[in-house]
Amino acid sequence: MASAIENVEKETEKVLHKFKSLKDHGDKNLSELIQQIESYQRDLSILTSPDCPLTDIQCQLLLDNVIKKTRNTISQFSTEHRDIHSSVSRIGKAIDKNFISDYVCVGNESLFDQGKNNEILNKVIVEHFLRQGRSDIAEKLIQESKLDIDTNDKIPYIKMNKILDALRNRNLQPALEWAQTHRDQLVKSNSDFEFKLHRLQFIELLRGGIENQWKLITYSRSHFTPFAQRYQAEIKALMGSLMYLRSGIEKSPYQYLLDPNNWVEICHMFTKEACSLLEVSVDSPLSVTFNAGCIALPALINIKQAIQQRNVNDVWSSRDELPIEIDVTRKCHYHSIFACPILRQQSCDSNPPMRLQCGHVISRDALNKLSNGSKLKCPYCPAEQNPADARLIYF
Ligand SMILES: [Zn+2]
Repeated sequence: MASAIENVEKETEKVLHKFKSLKDHGDKNLSELIQQIESYQRDLSILTSPDCPLTDIQCQLLLDNVIKKTRNTISQFSTEHRDIHSSVSRIGKAIDKNFISDYVCVGNESLFDQGKNNEILNKVIVEHFLRQGRSDIAEKLIQESKLDIDTNDKIPYIKMNKILDALRNRNLQPALEWAQTHRDQLVKSNSDFEFKLHRLQFIELLRGGIENQWKLITYSRSHFTPFAQRYQAEIKALMGSLMYLRSGIEKSPYQYLLDPNNWVEICHMFTKEACSLLEVSVDSPLSVTFNAGCIALPALINIKQAIQQRNVNDVWSSRDELPIEIDVTRKCHYHSIFACPILRQQSCDSNPPMRLQCGHVISRDALNKLSNGSKLKCPYCPAEQNPADARLIYF
């Protein structure tokens, strides 16, 4: 993949280089042409005056000469411009050559033949757009695909996006109200969100300079008290910044407080907190699936080709299972996975993890294989025990 991108990049760089030289060359030619025409304009005013020393034919020749030069320059310029076309089309060819566009071979076309799967897909798309704050698109899709989605399911997302919009416009009020309403839950999850909001409100007041001095003191008194113990160091720093109100925070050691990234951070933080209270993941299932697909697809295309070449098509017969293990990166992991250290297989409903008396965990299949009647010797520590004492573990 990386080399494919590099190959296309090389062609793109060639075109960019050509564009630059064409532009430089063109600019030079054009300014020369303009100079020529301007000088001819000057000549013309002399030629048209009654005491002109030249004959009509000489004037005509002069004019012809300028027109010829202009035409030459233009045709030269258009030839150079035409050359760029071939370089541009070479980029297209490089893309075709380096990137596989035929994903049909790994697709499962019949998957969405069933109405039920189609409905699930539409629901996932609707949820994605609701999260993105595009409720107009979501509503249209609900209407067109005749989905039945409870209004109560939509409201939290709509509220969430209203607050996010306000935050993007540097309005903290709706987020502060939200944090106050959900204070108990936020405290339970050890969240910094409410304090960070007040901190940011304080920083906004700081921007106002010395005029806001009294407001800043009143704000701190009325809002920082409940956080005083937990955020002592941060509150101290905020108070310290007041010393520089007159001379300007931007020239003080506290200038880091004015970092615009604070706003980006607070938006991320809000999305994370709101999603966790809604008990949904921060990224929508659609985007997670799409990203995992992008990672998995090249490997799947390779294996499919290898399977077809060797005529071993039945290797990949199961619809719900991939023929190889694909690491979709930590970002796409949502559940703890247990792999049996004995059988080297991931646990599943029919072969769940079992905790032995000694504390070691193996899969149930391994447990059955290793047990000898009512006796089992742990494969890790030699503790002998009754396999019936092993307990099923839930992750
Ligand atoms: Zn053990």
